[in-house]
Amino acid sequence: MGMSIPNELGRIIDLTVEHNTWRRSSLNMIPSENVMSPLAEAVYMCDMMHRYAEGRPRRRLYQGLKYVDEVEELVMDLMSRLFRVKHVEPRPISGTIANAATFRALSQPGGKAVVAPVQAGAHVSHTKFGTLGALGIEHIEMPFDMENLNIDVDKARRVIEEVKPNFVVMGGSMYLFPHPLKEIAETAHSVGSLVIYDAAHVLGLIAGRRWRDPFEAGADVVTASTHKTFPGPQGGVILTNNETIYKSIARTIFPWFVSNHHLHRLPATAVTALEMIYFGESYADQIVRNAKAFAEALASEGFKVLGEHLGYTRSHQVVVDVRNNGGGAKAAQLLEEANIIVNKNLLPYDPPEAVKDPSGIRTGVQEMTRLGMKEDDFREVARLFRMVLIDRRDPGEVRKQVIELRSRFTRVHFTFDIDLSSVPSSYRIPFLSKI
Ligand SMILES: *Cc1c(COP(=O)(O)O)cnc(C)c1O
Repeated sequence: MGMSIPNELGRIIDLTVEHNTWRRSSLNMIPSENVMSPLAEAVYMCDMMHRYAEGRPRRRLYQGLKYVDEVEELVMDLMSRLFRVKHVEPRPISGTIANAATFRALSQPGGKAVVAPVQAGAHVSHTKFGTLGALGIEHIEMPFDMENLNIDVDKARRVIEEVKPNFVVMGGSMYLFPHPLKEIAETAHSVGSLVIYDAAHVLGLIAGRRWRDPFEAGADVVTASTHKTFPGPQGGVILTNNETIYKSIARTIFPWFVSNHHLHRLPATAVTALEMIYFGESYADQIVRNAKAFAEALASEGFKVLGEHLGYTRSHQVVVDVRNNGGGAKAAQLLEEANIIVNKNLLPYDPPEAVKDPSGIRTGVQEMTRLGMKEDDFREVARLFRMVLIDRRDPGEVRKQVIELRSRFTRVHFTFDIDLSSVPSSYRIPFLSKI
């Protein structure tokens, strides 16, 4: 007795294939995104995605994990080598969960945290509206210095000395220039506060030694996502050299914040860590060069690029004030119509209520760098931005040029040269459309 195929099935497959086709013919420039290598994808698509593993390797509450245990230990070893750190906690399933577990391990509810201000790019999890608030930890912001687009060190020191918080959080989401970690960490330690550095955005740059090693600068704990400039599967990680902190974080992760930790992330994270050990420096180096070239090219096309007097950027991000180009919401929408995907973003001088139509757009070069773009290609991208936002050409027309440019960059670079043509992978999902 045959069963007919439900309409919804066709739609599910179509949506998946359409999404893939679209994002693979777009300039993906959201700074928190990236692509895994086909190799990492190949090991990601494995049976581990079906399994459970509560607890730590070799001390699990489930059976069937002898290979998972070894892969998880490999992730810890490789990350420990890459970031020159003693302890690695790979189980947080996202950067937010990594923060939650760390914040809770370092403070009881009713405790105090001094955090980077939102203008300096603080993530929602660092605020009373997000994770800190949910944990009942009071959040006190460090003052901002508009001139340097950064934390005001002198004023921040006074706040920390006065509040004597359980911990201080630095690191950001809109993040052009490094926060003054060393200076702030000195003050924090002098009053007995611990320092958490949230490297969600810049973990890949740290891996490639193009961003200051946060441990050298005084961080006690580093939290991060594993899918932004670090181009692995979506997930989180916590790093520390302090064994006592590590143990208390491990107890906080399970049973409080994670039960199963999505095991297919593990082999993919291990592959990505290995890629960063071998190719991380050339990858991060090209990202930093591309961001600079892109910012300069946008400025010479007539855009108001943030941070001109500071050299525009030292990270993977470039931020543009588009108040004269229709505002952040309109600009992001027009670019999307041209297959250029960016975020609208609050700028440091925007009021918080401008969140729906802020003055800026935030772009990142990391994904297109991973796909092989260099400085000249980003100059071309800057011209496409001008066509859409300054010349106000029809985005549908510009899209044709975007698709043409993008068609030259389809292969992931900075990975091992292995032929995967026979391996099923999400890169080959179009086969579904033939069903
Ligand atoms: C993205 C981000 C996070 C959260 O990471 P998720 O993996 O999305 O949960 C935390 N902190 C900062 C600074 C971020 O930019």
